[in-house]
Amino acid sequence: MNRDISTFDVCIIGGSIAGNYLCFLLSKINLKIAIIEEHDEIGQPLQCAGIISQKLDKLIDLPKELVLNRINTAKIVGPSGVSIKLSGNEKPYIIDRIELDRLFFNKIKNKENISYFFGEKFKSFRYLKDNQQKTVLIETTKRRLKAKILIGCDGPLSSVAKILRVKNKNLFATQIRIKSKFNENEAVMFFDQKWKELFGWIVPEGNNIYRIGMASSKNIKKNFHEFLKRLKIKQEQKIDQQGGLIPYGLMNRLAFDNVLLLGDSAGQVKATTGGGIIMLLTAAKYAAHCIKLCFKERKYSREIIKKYYEKPCKSIIGKELKIHYLIRSFLEKLSPKDFEKVFRIIKTSKIENLISFYGDMDFPRALIFKIVKNPQFFPFLIKFLLKNPQIFTKIMHII
Ligand SMILES: Cc1cc2nc3c(=O)[nH]c(=O)nc-3n(C[C@H](O)[C@H](O)[C@H](O)COP(=O)(O)OP(=O)(O)OC[C@H]3O[C@@H](n4cnc5c(N)ncnc54)[C@H](O)[C@@H]3O)c2cc1C
Repeated sequence: MNRDISTFDVCIIGGSIAGNYLCFLLSKINLKIAIIEEHDEIGQPLQCAGIISQKLDKLIDLPKELVLNRINTAKIVGPSGVSIKLSGNEKPYIIDRIELDRLFFNKIKNKENISYFFGEKFKSFRYLKDNQQKTVLIETTKRRLKAKILIGCDGPLSSVAKILRVKNKNLFATQIRIKSKFNENEAVMFFDQKWKELFGWIVPEGNNIYRIGMASSKNIKKNFHEFLKRLKIKQEQKIDQQGGLIPYGLMNRLAFDNVLLLGDSAGQVKATTGGGIIMLLTAAKYAAHCIKLCFKERKYSREIIKKYYEKPCKSIIGKELKIHYLIRSFLEKLSPKDFEKVFRIIKTSKIENLISFYGDMDFPRALIFKIVKNPQFFPFLIKFLLKNPQIFTKIMHII
């Protein structure tokens, strides 16, 4: 342990997509920034299916080499095996996730004002008074550092969040990559009561390689085994395997004195798809703006972080994440027969070519109004709600 205390303006915990992207945004102003990453390498271990809507290239300058494939259809398979294909004018990206994490790291790694500390774990922080101003003293497995702002980008099991008594509910996720011959243009989602909090997926990476995965709250090993059997996938086809956690629920509190949470640590993940990247890139822009203002005004209190980070995040992505959670609550209660009814309504009202599952599912409010207004769907919804009154309690809780 290095006994000296180094001083930084900002300390970011976690050098994955949220940490690296935020640091890249902040690198444009002259702040002294430390990033603590427990692994020795950026991007490893891989924990992602890499399917991201085409909004990605509106948010970042996306290099072509990072795009492994694009799909034009989302196939949804209900518990009874009945399916529907959705295809709007959206072609989601299948991304090289390891390279996406490295993209921003490579842009900033040689900057003098930015220091990466690899193979080092954040342990704790406490508040200090420094020249009448509150700062944070951070302890890692190798050193102590002082910073005016600490940012928790340390994922679903965030230790920063834990110290602030914020806790995610997480799903277990597992994924293998295989060589096979499914459809290279479509992602498939398999819904089932056994893994009702998300779905099983087939994501085509390109070159006949597919990412097959699943997330659920329990029995993930057994369920995944059953899922692979259903798809007739054999162990010999496996190239490699990944695992991880996906936050499930609503966005957490984001603002504290001298501290912000961003990305999975903040629960900025869509409960419908488990996708977090569009949300965290959007939130990172607000975080960067907020941090710039904090340093300009020399104020780092919860009030100012709340005003410039938490509030805009709540109104832009927080509300949408609530809708995702409501849709998820609805999907969890659908019986196999209900799935068939919903598919039939979508088919007969001829809207399956208008719904871009991944595109509309980033910000689903408009899509929901479109579907709920549908004269065939409305009576189904009323009957469904009367059969499942618990949904009302959830709506009240969310509101
Ligand atoms: C199997 C799976 C599939 C997914 N598929 C998709 C998808 O297709 N599309 C999509 O948009 N999203 C997907 N997601 C979600 C997406 O991967 C996350 O939303 C995203 O990675 C969150 O980024 P993050 O930087 O907030 O956290 P993470 O990527 O979890 O990174 C946290 C970083 O913090 C580091 N860290 C943690 N604790 C400490 C500590 N104490 N000290 C130092 N460092 C620490 C970790 O090593 C890690 O580098 C998937 C997730 C999983 C698990």
